[in-house]
Amino acid sequence: MSMVKLHWEKIFVAGYEEVFHVTCPEEGFSAALAIHTMFDGRSLGGTRVIHYEDFDQALRDALRLSRAMTYKSVMAGGAFGGAKSVVMLGPGQRVTERLLEVFAQAVNELEGRYICAEDSGLTLDHMALLRKYTPHVVGVVSEDSSGNPSRFTAWTTFLGVRAACEALYESTSIRGKKVAIQGLGAVGMLFADLLFWHGADLIVTDLREEALKKAVLDFDATVVLPDEIYDIECDIFAPCALGGVLSKETIPRLKADIVCGCANNQLLEKEDAQLLHERDILYVPDYIANSGGLINVRSEKVLARYSAKVAREETDEVFERLREVFFLARKEKISPADAADHIVAERIFT
Ligand code: NAD
Repeated sequence: MSMVKLHWEKIFVAGYEEVFHVTCPEEGFSAALAIHTMFDGRSLGGTRVIHYEDFDQALRDALRLSRAMTYKSVMAGGAFGGAKSVVMLGPGQRVTERLLEVFAQAVNELEGRYICAEDSGLTLDHMALLRKYTPHVVGVVSEDSSGNPSRFTAWTTFLGVRAACEALYESTSIRGKKVAIQGLGAVGMLFADLLFWHGADLIVTDLREEALKKAVLDFDATVVLPDEIYDIECDIFAPCALGGVLSKETIPRLKADIVCGCANNQLLEKEDAQLLHERDILYVPDYIANSGGLINVRSEKVLARYSAKVAREETDEVFERLREVFFLARKEKISPADAADHIVAERIFT
């Protein structure tokens, strides 16, 4: 590994353990690294390597996402605090092995306080390269790692649908339920497969023609245009593509009883959970619905040796957690998003 001189600028942000701007101008490297919480001196969170307008935008993303990771991690049973790193790509700059090597050096210099995982802009191949340069990485396809987290994420999203059906219809069965899926990527396609085998009817959208063709062939799915998905008459609306899709513009258009998908940060504004609640739409908090991936990757570091079966047992606990959330929401007449946040706050501060 050829080392470089990294410049670490510490940024003080109230409520955060450690926030840094890490740079190495000669390598074209600039990253924001936010550790929101540390449990037993450790935090975990994905690494985004994408284009940002400026450092402020990158920092805002790292702060917002690292905080969300704390919530996801606490609700998933703790073990690690929440963190996030974002590496800024300049105009025309691409992810190269050298860029990953420099980033890995930054991770190593934190001496295990931060463990990174895949996020936007990184592929499983990139994760394998990162592993060459740092041991503080999870979710790599290799004998000593937990592999692609997508199937675990799809499973907890599926459990979210079942738990919501139980809360609303007093049965976990999804046979005959209409599910409108936005996004058939790594997680969305596996989620669609689970729904299909449990008897659901699928309405799908994506930007990729080949994903749509596959869904028609494999699931007899009905295809709609990306913007039409919000207007579909269905039981469950499943955002599985982008964040920020639940807003004051889209929520009035929904004709679903339940919203449950794998996408991160589905609510554009925190208040949008209340809009869903007022419309009697049961929202499965995204950070619980998509926690399977985190539960799987973190078990690499928690167990002496990664075991998919142990990770599966832990992942199944998400169903009970959602029961607890829906129970509290009903009892206190609050939205499930607020109920989940209350549970997390109690666990952190008591
Ligand atoms: P992915 O990139 O494999 O899939 C995203 C899919 O959405 C792609 O098929 C893309 O074409 C489609 N898409 C993009 N814009 C769209 C639009 N406007 N309308 C319809 N489809 C659109 O990503 P993924 O790994 O499947 O993750 C999906 C979401 O779940 C992301 O928000 C991700 O952050 C979140 N998530 C993923 C995991 C995981 O284990 N992969 C874990 C937690 C959260």
